[in-house]
Amino acid sequence: MPNQSINGDNRSQPIFNCSDEWNLEGGKSYFFTRNNSTLVAFIAGSQAPANGVSLFKIIGCHTDSPVLKLAPVSKLNDRAGFQQLGVLLYGGGLWHTWFDRDLTLAGKIIVNEDGKLVSKYWRANEPILKVPNLAIHLTDRTGKFEPNKESHTKPILASSIVDQLFGEEIESLGAEKDRYRIEDKHFKTLLNRISQDLKIERTQIVDFEINVIDSQPSQLVGLHKEFISSPRLDNLGSSLVSLDAIIEANQNQKDNAEVSMIMLFDHEEIGSTSTQGADSNMAAVITQRIFESLSPQLRMSDYQRSMRRSFLLSADMAHGLHPNYSDKHQPQHAPKIHEGIVIKTNVNQSYATDTVSATIIRELAAKVGVPMQDFVVRNDSPCGSTIGPMMAANAGIKTCDIGAPMLGMHSIRETCGVIDLVYYRKLFLSFLGDYSTVSNSLLSE
Ligand SMILES: [Zn+2]
Repeated sequence: MPNQSINGDNRSQPIFNCSDEWNLEGGKSYFFTRNNSTLVAFIAGSQAPANGVSLFKIIGCHTDSPVLKLAPVSKLNDRAGFQQLGVLLYGGGLWHTWFDRDLTLAGKIIVNEDGKLVSKYWRANEPILKVPNLAIHLTDRTGKFEPNKESHTKPILASSIVDQLFGEEIESLGAEKDRYRIEDKHFKTLLNRISQDLKIERTQIVDFEINVIDSQPSQLVGLHKEFISSPRLDNLGSSLVSLDAIIEANQNQKDNAEVSMIMLFDHEEIGSTSTQGADSNMAAVITQRIFESLSPQLRMSDYQRSMRRSFLLSADMAHGLHPNYSDKHQPQHAPKIHEGIVIKTNVNQSYATDTVSATIIRELAAKVGVPMQDFVVRNDSPCGSTIGPMMAANAGIKTCDIGAPMLGMHSIRETCGVIDLVYYRKLFLSFLGDYSTVSNSLLSE
């Protein structure tokens, strides 16, 4: 990612690294990434904390989604006349939805530029892959479809005979030039395509992290265009709106000692335990470093007091009521599309909401006219989880789990309501703008 600031104005600071010393200035905004897949952006409060207490208002989301990732060795040569790609299944996808869709590839290419490793981003701009279904006549005709995750999910990249014809025109690098043995692992034609698109030599490609993705852009559907049909709504829907909200908050900053922040984590779909996941020390360490840099004269106990007054709004898309499967929800806890933002509660702590945190969010929603809905999972159903409980535990911060309702979570194309994303934005702005007023009026400690 190039040097940029939250909104490009003169109050914003360029990207910096966690390994650098931080000399933050109040009233300015900053952001950085870890692995280019976790993003943290914040606005430093312009005033010194009164009585040693600062406030962190954090919106937490995740950036990852279930997906097929290219295997370290992806070349599956001439299988029944096809060139196929070896893939690894990331997260818990509704894998049957990946069949018969026009797919493509996108990801991060590690390039050797004069001896240094540099990340470049690449996407094939048209559909180049497909995982076809098996004809019904070759099945038991019950209509049941349970693909084997290993043998049935390999996408077709090309017809072998055609690929070999075109491949003949591309000179092999040979062992001497191919120091990373990249042509042993991946199709020469695919490597050639990547190097042409990125305007680099094939010998510069060191390695890559490439995902198989839906090639169809997101679009509005419904007779009144009231639904969004899109890949990765869980949880880029929340991430994008939180980013939009913090940019607006930066443009309308108030003078105070509060830090407005978004933390968008990778690896939620596989449990969040990684250097850039929410179950790392990131939330605790980053907030501590911000506190120290802005208030070097204060003590560790002041930071700990500040965290007790701070708040995490854990935003992750919620399960809306599906009209064809209405028995999957308790009727009293069945959030509907276009009827507001969902507060998620789970007595077994799959969500971190408690009655106090929920009340604060209901008040902030009421201030801006955002309707709220309640969700609990049925007692006889498994429950999803979010980054809320682990961040609450690791950082000791009051937390409420919320989400915009959606359908088809973890399908290759998910569905949500346009109006709920408008509500989402209003609630985020109310949280970033008015949290301290509302919490001060409600909380006695
Ligand atoms: Zn999610």
